[in-house]
Amino acid sequence: MLYIISSVAGGGKSTLISKILERHPSIHFSISFTSRPIRKNDEPGINYHFVSKTEFEKLIKEDFFFEYALVHDNYYGTPKKFIEEEIAKGNKVILDIDVQGFRIIKNKFDDLISIFILPPSEEVWIARLKNRGTDNEEVIEKRIKNGRDELKAVNEYDFRIINDKLETAVDELEKILFLKEDRIQRIINEF
Ligand code: 5GP
Repeated sequence: MLYIISSVAGGGKSTLISKILERHPSIHFSISFTSRPIRKNDEPGINYHFVSKTEFEKLIKEDFFFEYALVHDNYYGTPKKFIEEEIAKGNKVILDIDVQGFRIIKNKFDDLISIFILPPSEEVWIARLKNRGTDNEEVIEKRIKNGRDELKAVNEYDFRIINDKLETAVDELEKILFLKEDRIQRIINEF
């Protein structure tokens, strides 16, 4: 089963995912490739595999990706081999990808559950983006604009979690990840 988790930048998705992976080592995380510059808190090979734009384009030509997209002017992609191997083993895999990537996978793969993480309010969201200290003013403005577009896609997802209190949000995500398959199907049908 694939679990796609998306949010607007600053929605708190990365912290949420790392907390759930700490609680459940049996859940695997798909480490994406990206051509974006490394930020100060990045751990190469842990949160992303960092490559140049030229290398990324070479990988696209080699059909290396399950899906890829341009996000905020940088390439991001999910490696196909990893996903295929994990599915074959019957493992649960979390993908932290954007709305474009979600739509690509949704069109070609059935066994997936999608979750959109929402910040509690617009004010909190913008404050979080500004307090991260990772981006300059221009980048923050761009992330706000893109985020507003991404929020329009929330209804395409199976579940949404409001990330107000971290521990509560982690508990909610955990429930979704461990719902019985038949119950998941019922809930999806109800949506
Ligand atoms: P950031 O650079 O802030 O880590 O991520 C920017 C955006 O790229 C986030 O919305 C994240 O979910 C998305 N992203 C990360 N990896 C992938 C990927 O492999 N494919 C797609 N389509 N989006 C990704």
